[in-house]
Amino acid sequence: MENLLYIAHNLQNHLETLRQFTSTPGFGVTRLPFSKEARQAVDYIKDQMEQIGLRTWIDASGAVHGRLDGTEPDAPTILIGSHYDTVKSGGAYDGIAGIVSAIEVARILKENKVQMKYPLEIIATNDEEGITYGVCFLTSKALLGRWTITELKQLHDTAGESIYDAILRFGLDPNKIEDCKIDSLNVKCFIEIHIEQGPVLDSKGIQLGLVDCIAGLQRYRIQMIGKSNHAGSTPMDMRSDAVDASTKVISCISEWAKTEGGGTVATVGFMQVFPNALNTISGKTEWVLDCRSSDEEKIQHIVEKLTQKLEEVKSKTGVDYKIEPLVHVKPGYMNKELLEQLEKSCCTFGYSYQKIMSGATHDAHLMSEEVDTIMLFVPSKDGISHSPEESSKYEDLARAVYVVSDMISNLN
Ligand SMILES: [Zn+2]
Repeated sequence: MENLLYIAHNLQNHLETLRQFTSTPGFGVTRLPFSKEARQAVDYIKDQMEQIGLRTWIDASGAVHGRLDGTEPDAPTILIGSHYDTVKSGGAYDGIAGIVSAIEVARILKENKVQMKYPLEIIATNDEEGITYGVCFLTSKALLGRWTITELKQLHDTAGESIYDAILRFGLDPNKIEDCKIDSLNVKCFIEIHIEQGPVLDSKGIQLGLVDCIAGLQRYRIQMIGKSNHAGSTPMDMRSDAVDASTKVISCISEWAKTEGGGTVATVGFMQVFPNALNTISGKTEWVLDCRSSDEEKIQHIVEKLTQKLEEVKSKTGVDYKIEPLVHVKPGYMNKELLEQLEKSCCTFGYSYQKIMSGATHDAHLMSEEVDTIMLFVPSKDGISHSPEESSKYEDLARAVYVVSDMISNLN
């Protein structure tokens, strides 16, 4: 195997080039789907794949594919990839670090003439973040055959351009979206290298995280309905204050999540107050509970406690409520045997690692529904992500490259 620092140096070169493809220079990386910057990234990634001898193409979702044939033409394909789009003013590592790491994996296997039974295919996916059209996973949904042309025409950005029209503008054929579908029986596995985007590995000084589960997510919209009235002239015992009632409920939520444990998290990060006036008792609040766990039962316990508490507060304060489910994504479990292989590879190289749950969702989450999937995390400095401050060590990414290359070699 090659020198770790040489791989780290290659990764650094790639990432320093790619971070320049941003519509917000000086304010982090903004590379939205089908933008000029997305085009620059696509061209660069395709060119780098070709330089190491991969056969490349761009599919109808805007994903760049680079394929290295194996020795057995009918053997199922090992897919490896991550996304090249970013959030607004995001970092230079989220998603793209996994793509350049995959390119290094392919380069090492090819240059070291590793006899690969299975073909290896890198997929640099598009629009994983979902901020432009409100729906995540453009490419990974296409890979699983979950788009219809009608849907592509229906979903618009804020300027009114549909995904369908954006694909056309990008020089691709949206009518071929269904051709992106993979035959899951012909896929050996999907591998994603990604930054952790949380503080666990960095705070413990651990070099690699082996993801065993990507948390399930449920979101609920809660409306609490009281009565607006004058903040001065309404006595305390004659109020129906929606903010006061909401705080009685919301203040319990973090304790419920801690009680459930096992990495369960619950957040109220969105709240609106009506009429939102400083001299008026609030007649209504609307807020969203975002709850994530590797165990759906734990989320269900929290939702049950929430309903009980809402009932209790209603009987004490007269503030009524409505609760409405918004999102329900099941946990994504990573493949145990492949995880064991990764663990062995970590031990071979003497890298420190731990099993870890991903609280954030990824392409690997969706892919795990249909193909054997594994995910490898590298530490995020201070746990910061979706920010210009996002940072990971090139050496840690190079370690992930080593481990994945070794694991793939051993799959033969
Ligand atoms: Zn990401």
